[in-house]
Amino acid sequence: MKVYADNAATTYLSKTARDKLIECLDNYNGNPNSLHSDGQRTQEVLDEARAIVAGCINAKNPNEIYFTSGGSEADNQALLSAARGLSRKGKKHLITLNIEHHAILHTMAKLEKEGFEVTYLKPQANGIVDVRDVEDAIREDTALVSVMFANNEMGAVQPIPEIGALCRSKGVLFHTDAVQAAAHLPIDVQAMNIDMLSMSGHKFHGPKGVGILYARNGIRLVNVIEGGAQERGKRAGTVNVPGIAAMAAALKEGCDNMDANMSHVRKLRDKLIDGLKDIPYSQLNGDPVNRLPGNVNWSFEGVEGESLLLHLDLYGIECSSGSACTSESLEPSHVLTGMGVPVEAAHGSLRFSLDSDNTEEQVDYIIEKVHSVVDLYRSMSPYWEDLMNGTREHCIPEYM
Ligand SMILES: *Cc1c(COP(=O)(O)O)cnc(C)c1O
Repeated sequence: MKVYADNAATTYLSKTARDKLIECLDNYNGNPNSLHSDGQRTQEVLDEARAIVAGCINAKNPNEIYFTSGGSEADNQALLSAARGLSRKGKKHLITLNIEHHAILHTMAKLEKEGFEVTYLKPQANGIVDVRDVEDAIREDTALVSVMFANNEMGAVQPIPEIGALCRSKGVLFHTDAVQAAAHLPIDVQAMNIDMLSMSGHKFHGPKGVGILYARNGIRLVNVIEGGAQERGKRAGTVNVPGIAAMAAALKEGCDNMDANMSHVRKLRDKLIDGLKDIPYSQLNGDPVNRLPGNVNWSFEGVEGESLLLHLDLYGIECSSGSACTSESLEPSHVLTGMGVPVEAAHGSLRFSLDSDNTEEQVDYIIEKVHSVVDLYRSMSPYWEDLMNGTREHCIPEYM
């Protein structure tokens, strides 16, 4: 059986998105910035995509939507804009979480080198930040709070409406990396007081290499890519109209069917969680309730996540042992260690990210194979032997 359970790394292109992509590649080859008919026909496709995206997140105006090359670029642009814009007013302090995606963390590190001060908040043991910690961290000179909507590794969903209301009341800009949340959880940028928000096409069955930055009117963006005046002068480069139209179609399909899709995915997730609970000295990472509908992140003591992953792949099960960016290094995940999971437990972790095309039968298969693979590797592990004969201490209780 083949089971794709790595949808947090990327999703497959949906038929709707593929059809739109092909339609545009065949029929809309004009440059939307050209004044002739072909250009203007293509401009209409772009306008339609912008209106669709604005509708999906309840943006006030489609001109608050900027198309980028992906989630990473949107994250970079949001942080650089807030920092560079507000430092002129003496605001040189930024707040984020230590469990953010590297698109955020590495941009923050760059800003630190430029003289900004960054507070990296640590979430609680369940992976969720305490809003009071955000409130305590806000200072007179705080320019921006950037807190991800939902974590890509262990799925915890952050208290976005509460943080949005707090930032608005303190006059601090609020950005959220909603790459994992878009089309999976309801997003309303107005009701949630979100000033800037990032999304990425390939995380909701759109194409790779296209993303979205929402920036509320009144926020001054700085350019990450300099050149022509595309995207109202804020993102140079001839616009990828087919990719953008396909991304908008995928987002709309995901948002229109969110309730039905996500109740199915939640059921699968909870079935998988139930099925793994009887493995001793193993644990679910991240809040059991406030988590992405499809995310199951599990630590197994005494084994390496990478070994489990490669063995599961032999059975046709594709998952992840951390985020795709860190899985080639043997460093444990900064997300798991950042929320206090012991290093030994972080090393033995697997992430399954399910989506609407997964089935109950596939989940039964995952449960069966995970049990057998964990047993197999534990039976060969000197580390596990030490745990069993008491020469080494457990870091996870026998049962949750
Ligand atoms: C995938 C991801 C990104 C990066 O998006 P790209 O489009 O791949 O650049 C950023 N943040 C989170 C939370 C992600 O999951």
